Amino acid sequence: CGIVGVLGQHEAAPILVEALKRLEYRGYDSAGIATLQDGALDRRRAVGKLVNLSDLLVHQPLAGKSGIGHTRWATHGAPTLNNTHPHRAGRVAVVHNGIIENYRALREELARAGVAHQTETDTETVALMAQHLIDGGASPQEAAQQTIAKLEGAYALCFLFEGESDLLIAARKGSPLAVGHGEGEMYVGSDAIALAPLTDRITYLEEGDCAIVTRQSLSILDADGAPVTREMKTIRISN
Ligand code: GLU
Repeated sequence: CGIVGVLGQHEAAPILVEALKRLEYRGYDSAGIATLQDGALDRRRAVGKLVNLSDLLVHQPLAGKSGIGHTRWATHGAPTLNNTHPHRAGRVAVVHNGIIENYRALREELARAGVAHQTETDTETVALMAQHLIDGGASPQEAAQQTIAKLEGAYALCFLFEGESDLLIAARKGSPLAVGHGEGEMYVGSDAIALAPLTDRITYLEEGDCAIVTRQSLSILDADGAPVTREMKTIRISN
């Protein structure tokens, strides 16, 4: 299971699929990507091997230079197409590794507000909560941060928002996550191996960190919401 994200200068889909291939060693049962084309969110998902996703993309290509991708190891909900990530609610797409322990309570909170789930996953709750907060007037960044603050469990997350072609929000708690620095490009990955062909300049998020990523900037907030600096390292991985 793995997570990738890209804010690029080139088509995102092939970059995302290649990065997911480098995470195959972790094992997975399904895979998917979401991109923004002219600000509009779209996604492609497939059960089984990554080649099924690649084949789908041949017939139904996904354009756009910003995107997120996921290989899933199902914990909540069977490995079906409907449960495959990225999960989407309105303007919000999200990929997630790990488990949201309090997803039932959050599901009930959303149900009371009239928000219905369409999948069996704990992850869809994250997307629905963020969209619910956007509906209440929050900006995408505020919605992601407020959603993350509600989550209990172990997770790595990456958000992509319709209409925000230069923004990824990534967070980690109990699951590793790295941000890669390119030339006018930024990447997110479960580990540096996923990003190795793209860059050797890596900032590892620390426990509880939330990263606000644009093509030109990386700001990190710690578990208390205070801005922090994390060292950028030049790492060496043979391809
Ligand atoms: N708990 C989530 C799900 O079952 C994420 C699983 C994963 O780590 O891939 O969809």
